[in-house]
Amino acid sequence: MGRTLYTNIQIFDGSGADLYPGEVLVEGNKITAVNQGTDEKLSTENAFIIDGKGATLMPGMVEAHAHLTWPTNVERTINAMKLPIEEHVLVTAQNARITLDYGFTSAYSAGSVGEKIEPHLRDMINAGHIPGPRLRASALEKGMEDVMGVPEGYDPTHDRSIEGLRQYIRDMKKLGCDTVKIMLSSDEGFQLGGSERLLYTQEEITAIGETAREENIWLACHSQSTESVKMACRAGFRNLFHCIHIDEEGLDLMEARKDDLFMSPAPGLLYARIHEAQDFGIGPKEARKMGAYLGLESNQKNIPKMRKRGIRVLPGGDYGFPYNPIGRNARDLDIFVKMFGFTTHEALVAATKHGGELVDWPVGMIKANMLADILLIDGDPTKDITVLQDLSKILSVMKDGKFHRAPPRRYEVFA
Ligand SMILES: [Zn+2]
Repeated sequence: MGRTLYTNIQIFDGSGADLYPGEVLVEGNKITAVNQGTDEKLSTENAFIIDGKGATLMPGMVEAHAHLTWPTNVERTINAMKLPIEEHVLVTAQNARITLDYGFTSAYSAGSVGEKIEPHLRDMINAGHIPGPRLRASALEKGMEDVMGVPEGYDPTHDRSIEGLRQYIRDMKKLGCDTVKIMLSSDEGFQLGGSERLLYTQEEITAIGETAREENIWLACHSQSTESVKMACRAGFRNLFHCIHIDEEGLDLMEARKDDLFMSPAPGLLYARIHEAQDFGIGPKEARKMGAYLGLESNQKNIPKMRKRGIRVLPGGDYGFPYNPIGRNARDLDIFVKMFGFTTHEALVAATKHGGELVDWPVGMIKANMLADILLIDGDPTKDITVLQDLSKILSVMKDGKFHRAPPRRYEVFA
């Protein structure tokens, strides 16, 4: 069994506590010991030893709103959302590798172009054939025909009867999905006033919720109108996106379910549309028309309220658009700090401990018996959270006890 010992490090353990000096031992795919302080030393026997030289060791991050099939990444811009399937599959594999390169060791899918890509991708990653994050896989975003992710001329609802909707959930389970995304509301990006337009009835969503529980599959939703959030709460959805028009009653419903519900606002895309999309023909006027200001300003108003109520709000920002490339995902943590009133510690807990709770694997914390998903960071992200956006500062990425990116040779100790 492989042993890796990290020594001379400052540990951010995911609990929200301040960094402390110590050592971390990994055996096989697990963390088996965490030593606080510098007096006691863990055994170096048969270990691959990393001298962190004071670097920060922290849990791998979790992307709570991932679209690995959305084509654009930091290595190349693709001015399309859909490609010929052969190319699309390969680009998706590249996106999975880049997501991991940048320190995201787990991801919860917020919908995929193509029904079967993500279940296959997840299985290939788990088998060790290609690099990528642990993945909670999804199929198409289920919504209206010709709206994002749903091909023109193809209605994945098959049949909009209650039984048809139940069958859709069973079909997604058979495909191997872990989660199904439903477009509960429309979006300003699709039509003016879309964010307040409901696309389903409570009866339909209740049936979807019941079937999902029977099939043991999770539900996620695009939910912008306040009624869509309430429907999702009542029907037992796990991961709620955007929630921009939420009112006090909606907040009450979310709070009542806060132990098994997560909110992923996906601010990265809105931020990019406002500040970074000019070269792609999106100026302030277009950004306003697409609802970017409305979304971000509502998030700014409501997310601090959610935080106070103990609702877990997670980073993950719709990366994959030409002006919002995959690989920039850690920018969401900075947005949480600058715009939503999170401390750096809170944003890091959201991306690690709470992210681990979302994907429901023993990840997101540095403690014994957790899976060894571990980052080594040159710098202190509790002082400057933007270091997580700089690939050169992410010294190493370990997933499941193995290095996806090993630390530079100068950090190795030869006994
Ligand atoms: Zn999305």
